[in-house]
Amino acid sequence: MEFRDRFDRLHDDLRVSVTDRCNLRCSYCMPEQPVWFPRSQILDYEEMHRLIRVLAAHGVRKVRITGGEPLVRKDLDRFIHLLAGTAGIEDISLTTNGVLLQDMVQPLADAGLNRVNVSLDTLDPMRFRQLTRRDDLDQVLAGLDAAAVAGLTPLKINTVLLRGTNEDEAERFVETARDKGWEVRFIEFMPLENNGTWDLSRVVTGQEIRDRIHAGWPLDPDPSNDPSAPAARFLFRDGGGRVGFINSISEPFCGDCSRLRLTADGKFRVCLYDNAEIDLKTPLRQGASDDDLAGLIREAVLGKGRGGALEILERKERLPGTRTMHQIGG
Ligand code: SAM
Ligand code: SF4
Repeated sequence: MEFRDRFDRLHDDLRVSVTDRCNLRCSYCMPEQPVWFPRSQILDYEEMHRLIRVLAAHGVRKVRITGGEPLVRKDLDRFIHLLAGTAGIEDISLTTNGVLLQDMVQPLADAGLNRVNVSLDTLDPMRFRQLTRRDDLDQVLAGLDAAAVAGLTPLKINTVLLRGTNEDEAERFVETARDKGWEVRFIEFMPLENNGTWDLSRVVTGQEIRDRIHAGWPLDPDPSNDPSAPAARFLFRDGGGRVGFINSISEPFCGDCSRLRLTADGKFRVCLYDNAEIDLKTPLRQGASDDDLAGLIREAVLGKGRGGALEILERKERLPGTRTMHQIGG
């Protein structure tokens, strides 16, 4: 039986974080000197695969691999190969910062990766260094070109614009995206940041960015929009491609949420913002059966609330003490 919650939302989409480690240090995501999970606490690929087989047996069809930075985990192609051979899994995608993509993308595509999203918040090398505390913009751009060569198109770029930091780059992203054939998706800054700087006033809303883009490149709603997908997508009227807006704060999409999350240390979360995660690693390592694991997952899904982002919107403040994105898997 599928995993449905009390609001009859079907959960068929899993984000699996394969590591909390990262080769960048985006200041809104992690501290300069993070404390990583001890290696013994990280699930190995076989353990992750076992949980994903249980989830797939109950209707999970899509798996997005994330982190931390998933490409810093060794042998990711082996994990993708395991997923690609899993009954029920129809779509395998990856969210990466792109730094290591250039050499890895072809083996990953060969292993069965269907789609890749690359996170990139600035096209300016100096700003890239400020935002990520590393100097790797050229590698990311080379990785994007390599992903296009490997056929993982249309490439999706995830961009978070922050008020007073990089909010002026929307137009530059659009110009570059139209030239390169990328689909940029502007994501609103969410209160899961590392450094306590989230504040509604720093959120550049999708509506604001859309208005700015529309003034230069008129947009029309994309008729092929999937209403349950988080991105509201628009087509450039002149045929120059597509752009998306993930309005996670100004228009939370909790009502259609189909997502579940597994962290690298074996915790299972039903909502980005809900700290009531359950531990699957301990029962898994103590020999729980597939039915036992499915029972724990079902119970957690039945406990899922209406939606964390909706609560933030209502309270207009950050939720207390949640893990940051690199530990949950964005
Ligand atoms: N390292 C990979 C990457 O950067 O794509 C995967 C993990 S990262 C946590 C996933 C996504 O979460 C990135 O697109 C990042 O920009 C986004 N993210 C992290 N913290 C965020 C926040 N507070 N608000 C919005 N997006 C955030
Ligand atoms: Fe690393 Fe991604 Fe977080 Fe940046 S957003 S620090 S790339 S996990």
